[in-house]
Amino acid sequence: MQLSDQNTYSIQNIDPHHFTEKFGSPLYVYDGATIRRKVQELQHAFPGINMKIKYACKANTNLSILRLMREIGVELDVVSPGELEMGLIAGYSASQITFTPSGVPFEEVREAVDAGAIVNVDSIPLLEWFGQTYGNTKPCLIRIKPNVAAGGNAKIMTAHADSKFGISVLLLDQILEVVKKYDIKIIGLHQHTGSDIKDAEPFLKVADILFETAKHFPDLEIVDLGGGFKVSYLPGDQITDMDLLGRKISERFKKFCSEYGRELQLWFEPGKFLVSESGYLLVNATVVKEDPARNFVHVNSGLNHLIRPMMYGSYHHILNVSNPAGEPKTYNVVGYICETDTFATDRTLPEVKAGDLLAFLNAGAYGFTMSSNYNARQRPAEILVDQAEAKLIRRRETLEDLLKTQTDL
Ligand SMILES: *Cc1c(COP(=O)(O)O)cnc(C)c1O
Repeated sequence: MQLSDQNTYSIQNIDPHHFTEKFGSPLYVYDGATIRRKVQELQHAFPGINMKIKYACKANTNLSILRLMREIGVELDVVSPGELEMGLIAGYSASQITFTPSGVPFEEVREAVDAGAIVNVDSIPLLEWFGQTYGNTKPCLIRIKPNVAAGGNAKIMTAHADSKFGISVLLLDQILEVVKKYDIKIIGLHQHTGSDIKDAEPFLKVADILFETAKHFPDLEIVDLGGGFKVSYLPGDQITDMDLLGRKISERFKKFCSEYGRELQLWFEPGKFLVSESGYLLVNATVVKEDPARNFVHVNSGLNHLIRPMMYGSYHHILNVSNPAGEPKTYNVVGYICETDTFATDRTLPEVKAGDLLAFLNAGAYGFTMSSNYNARQRPAEILVDQAEAKLIRRRETLEDLLKTQTDL
């Protein structure tokens, strides 16, 4: 079944009414075909390059999504011991997993190294500790902060001078000193610029900085350019032109490898690019309020299920699945949380009536993984539609789930 919004935007492979009748509402639904397509798009964009995709799984850690990624040749980037554990449960070997921490207790790094994962070292103190602890017996990558500002907005930029992430490229001498002191085996340089980066330019800029820095490290096997490719949020939206970006970076990377004297691996760690467009959050309109100031659509969900609009102003296209051909009206679409809880402001939708089924698009990345139990609300179920099969991949939470860690019942 195909549903469309004035024929400009469509939901493929998914029948929202059928799913919410069967599994309830609100509901997260993911389309496996979209994930497979996005992975292929990336895999094909770097011809003649030894390129590896490390899915930044904080975007969506459902085990079924992780298993799907593993099946189609995508490895993992994790940011916590919990994500590492989930990767192992999903069938990854630790050697396929990179741990990219941000100022974590060193014990977490020890756990990751003990498990067999490879670590992205993100501070001078951690580099010191790594050297003292492992000398030259364990390889690692270094996360460089290239001091390049790029990304959709300030909250999702990670490589500008004021960012907390990585070791400033300006501290190269200090890095080299520590590496030499302990004879640390640096096999890769890493950087992650931020999120929603549309153009090739910032990627090329940071690539050049990493390539330049790489000349000081003779044992490299990997250059990791991070994630952050921009996806489509609304009809006609500009996205990262992956073929163009792939061609430009491949060219530059080949030149670098020949200068470096060896063919290295090029890694990327996309999260959003691989899963954002695959996901839908299905909700029902509960109350339509025709207020003198403006019209409100209240829904049976809120920032507890999808916090991105409130957290960093992200846009989620909304379809009125029940009444796609209705008269256009303008609404604020709001959640039920007792807090300012706005999904969309001044959004024109086909007329919404109480009970209508609405679909939020781009809910596959940073949707469920950022959800909470605020207001003692339970989290929705998750469904994966893949290869003609719809599978419940997480049941809906119950109040018991919320009470289970309390000790004074
Ligand atoms: C979050 C994150 C990513 C993924 O970012 P996207 O915008 O989802 O592609 C990649 N690398 C690191 C280190 C991250 O923390």
